[in-house]
Amino acid sequence: MQLRITEIFLSIQGESSHAGRPCAFVRLTGCPMRCVWCDSEYTFTGGNRMSFEEIFARLDAYGCPLVEITGGEPLAQKAVFPFITELLDRGFEVLIETGGYVSTERVDPRAKVILDVKCPASGERERNHWTNLERLNPEKDEVKFVVADLADWEFARGIIAKYELEKRAKEILISPVFGVENLQEIAEAISKSGLRVRLNMQLHKYIWGADVHGV
Ligand code: SF4
Repeated sequence: MQLRITEIFLSIQGESSHAGRPCAFVRLTGCPMRCVWCDSEYTFTGGNRMSFEEIFARLDAYGCPLVEITGGEPLAQKAVFPFITELLDRGFEVLIETGGYVSTERVDPRAKVILDVKCPASGERERNHWTNLERLNPEKDEVKFVVADLADWEFARGIIAKYELEKRAKEILISPVFGVENLQEIAEAISKSGLRVRLNMQLHKYIWGADVHGV
């Protein structure tokens, strides 16, 4: 079987409760969404077809036990589901970073899902697949809100309450869009919220810069 791949690289995990850990990334090509602040537009087209064996060879050479499958939208390629299972069978710890549009139903339950909820400023709020929130496992899965302003933060608060995400998710990540001017305002609102949430700052962009790929 094959997957269309934009890049595979070894780096530091920049986000989630796993931030700071060495991590191998498999970035799949293609995404059905068009978030206005997307930082991965280079994944929308192109890429190279790679067999599972070719991908495993790259990962084995890194010798890194933590692998993130990302994109683009990684769950948009059907072959990703058996690929995730095979990675887990080979003993890797697997993170799935998904945009929240595609159902997570077929994801191997041993994988750790980091599920985006699209806020209004993304322009893609209407495409959230809400049932995904009901599938979160509080032992391992995380939910992420990328927020561009205080209106997005208020939207996130509403979804956290409506779906009782403090009970459903291991972590609730509030991730300001990189470079937003009102970062302090968002941080203060989070600090006063009394919610079990975590400010998520995309560590890799502070180390290598916002526009650098493959690191
Ligand atoms: S879901 Fe992710 S890759 Fe797709 S447009 Fe939105 S931010 Fe970009």
